[in-house]
Amino acid sequence: MSTIPEPNGLALILRASMFAAHKHRDQRRKDVNASPYINHPLSLACVLANEGGVTDAATLCAALLHDTIEDTDTSAEELAREFGAEIAGLVGEVTDDKTLQKAERKRLQIEHAATISDKAKRVKLADKICNLRDVADSPPAGWSLDRKREYFDWAKAVIDRLRGIDARLEAVFDAAYRGRP
Ligand code: NDP
Ligand code: ZN
Repeated sequence: MSTIPEPNGLALILRASMFAAHKHRDQRRKDVNASPYINHPLSLACVLANEGGVTDAATLCAALLHDTIEDTDTSAEELAREFGAEIAGLVGEVTDDKTLQKAERKRLQIEHAATISDKAKRVKLADKICNLRDVADSPPAGWSLDRKREYFDWAKAVIDRLRGIDARLEAVFDAAYRGRP
C-alpha cells in the first residue's frame, strides 16, 4: 500500500512547501535557539503523513500553509489562486482573527473547534500535537512551569471539542498530552 499521494498531489505538496518556506523565510520559533519557523509547518505535515497515515494532498498542503495567513502577508485570495479553493478554505478554517485580543482568540478556538471540517480538524490536531511537543521539549524562552501547563490544558480543551473524527491522530495527541510538564 502506497502512503505517497498520487503524482499531482506530490507536486502540489512540494509547491506548498516552497511557498511556505518563502513566506516564513524571516521568521523564527520562540524557543531559545530561535529555530527556523518553517520547521513547524513541516512538522505538522510529517505528523499527519507518518503518524496519522494521512494521504490526502489538500490536508497535507493545508498543514504546510496553516500559519501563512495568520503570520505572514499571505491572503486567502493568494492561496486560492496558487492552490485552489479547497486548500485556501482549509487554511482559513484554522486561521485566528488577529484583530481580536489574544485571550478572546484562545476562547474562540475552543468554541469553533467542533464546527470546522474534518480535514481542518486533522490540521488542528497536528498543530496542537506539534506545539505540545515543542512546549515540552523546546519551549518558548522564559515560559514558567505554570505557563507551560496552561498551554497544555488550553490545547486539550480545544481538542476535546473536536474528538471522534480520527482515532489514530487523537491517540497521538493524547500521547503528546501525557508529556505535560
Ligand atoms: P501563545 O500561547 O500565543 O504562544 C504559543 C504559540 O506560539 C503556539 O501556539 C505557537 O503558535 C507559537 N510557538 C512558537 N514557538 C513555539 C515553541 N517553541 N513552543 C510552542 N509554541 C510556539 O503565547 P502568548 O505569548 O501569545 O500568550 C497567549 C496567552 O497566554 C494569553 O492569552 C495570556 O493570557 C497567557 N499568558 C499567560 C502567562 C502565564 O505566565 N501563565 C503570561 C502571559 C500570558 P503557532 O502554531 O501559531 O506558531
Ligand atoms: Zn501552527
